[in-house]
Amino acid sequence: MADIAIIGGGAAGASLFGELLRRGDARVHWVTGDRAVAGRGVAYASGSDQHLLNVRAAAMGLFAGADGDFLAFARQRLDGVAGDDFLPRSLFGDFIEAQVRACADRALQQGRRFHIHGDDAVQLEPLWDGGYAVRLASGVLLKADSIVLAMGAMPPRPLRAVTREALQSGAYALDPQRVEGPTPPRRVLVIGTGLSAVDALLTAAERWPEAELVALSRHGQFPFEHTLQPLPLYAGQSALNAALLASDGVRSMLRRVREAIAASPATDWRSLVDGIRPINARLWRRLDGAQRRQFLRHLRWLWEAARHRVAPASAQAIAGLRAEGRLRVHAARVLQVDGHGPLQVRVRHRATQRLDVLTADRVIQVTGLDTAVAYTEHTLLSRLLRDGLAVPDPLQLGVAAHPDGQLLNAGGEPQVGLYAIGALLRGNLWECSAMAEIRAAAQQLARRLAAGEPAEAQDPSLPRALARMEL
Ligand SMILES: Cc1cc2nc3c(=O)[nH]c(=O)nc-3n(C[C@H](O)[C@H](O)[C@H](O)COP(=O)(O)OP(=O)(O)OC[C@H]3O[C@@H](n4cnc5c(N)ncnc54)[C@H](O)[C@@H]3O)c2cc1C
Repeated sequence: MADIAIIGGGAAGASLFGELLRRGDARVHWVTGDRAVAGRGVAYASGSDQHLLNVRAAAMGLFAGADGDFLAFARQRLDGVAGDDFLPRSLFGDFIEAQVRACADRALQQGRRFHIHGDDAVQLEPLWDGGYAVRLASGVLLKADSIVLAMGAMPPRPLRAVTREALQSGAYALDPQRVEGPTPPRRVLVIGTGLSAVDALLTAAERWPEAELVALSRHGQFPFEHTLQPLPLYAGQSALNAALLASDGVRSMLRRVREAIAASPATDWRSLVDGIRPINARLWRRLDGAQRRQFLRHLRWLWEAARHRVAPASAQAIAGLRAEGRLRVHAARVLQVDGHGPLQVRVRHRATQRLDVLTADRVIQVTGLDTAVAYTEHTLLSRLLRDGLAVPDPLQLGVAAHPDGQLLNAGGEPQVGLYAIGALLRGNLWECSAMAEIRAAAQQLARRLAAGEPAEAQDPSLPRALARMEL
């Protein structure tokens, strides 16, 4: 019986853990980290009811093909829940915990073997007779034939523009959940306008009702809003997707999407964007390095806002803060953050190129997932790079990998028995960190690992049922 170690205690690790236990043909070691509750990871550890899922309840789940389980769970907890609702992320965290418990109980009854280690993995060493030794921070050593890195994104790093003095002041925060300070701030500045920035602003607004709020990012663009009801499918989606797959680069892809939107004024553009989702990974893989760079430079901000939309209630809360004049938003680039509190944030406004200095008592950096592994201080990953077991993706979108998640080593070869799931595979798949992609990937990986099959390329498209969902 093979031993498989999953490293990482978030939703991706939980999904793979459950899939492997269900199959029952491997001994599973789940190394969940020493901080988080197993399964919740970063996204679902939030305790705030204001932090909502950005996917409708009916479309959330932990396992591929188990749609509806979360909705059923939510209905046991709350009255009047509808499948189209955007529920608190904490509830999804409760659901993951319950699912993990149920999988573990069932596995125990069936005599299946597994171990959960609430510890950090700090080193991997290939063994001469195959497999790996996994060293945990406590000194415990595990042996496994295959390893799956399910560690999410890397711990956030401060922007280069932040001075040491500002970092040491305690007024600059990289974790929006941990914004300390002896006195309530008069002004809070959030760097970033993505989904996590929305959460950070809503938390700040509630926690410090008197504080003035400022948000800034290069384009000053918050995520677009989900519609209250799911959208009908765009009738021309198959033709559009075929045309996109036949396109020869980012420009022509963008032109085809624009033409489709213009030609179908009765269709909500969001429906088209959702309909592209099943082929996102294939489109990404068709782009060469220069085209990917072009996408990241010019289109990423728009793609993120259009694809990763915000729940209507959160969007309305942000709009309310702006209407009250409590929240100001700038499209500007941060040049420097300095001072010991209050901090001075030197920016250049995008439209006018005007230089400006904004002062804030707290600055919270929420600039998205950090997958630049070459610069990380993450112990395990930096050692993997140093030992040549992994190499960074050329665009710093995680690690270089085979399409099925198998890592490439410094020699450019697939590293036998070493896989990743989730955000570390962005360079390979681009969209791979939302639950829909994670649950599909966990199922495919479990099937392959449990069967002991060698890695082979696979179509990273979502299964048909998942692909149809509006997310
Ligand atoms: C704020 C936020 C909201 C989101 N909302 C949604 C949503 O509504 N719907 C949706 O589909 N997706 C959402 N997502 C996407 C989300 O990333 C995925 O749904 C999923 O939570 C990712 O899980 P993960 O396990 O890959 O990563 P993570 O949640 O980052 O978990 C990785 C875990 O591994 C641990 N770890 C790291 N290194 C080690 C080590 N060496 N040893 C042991 N453990 C280690 C980390 O501490 C962490 O707990 C959201 C993401 C964020 C950040």
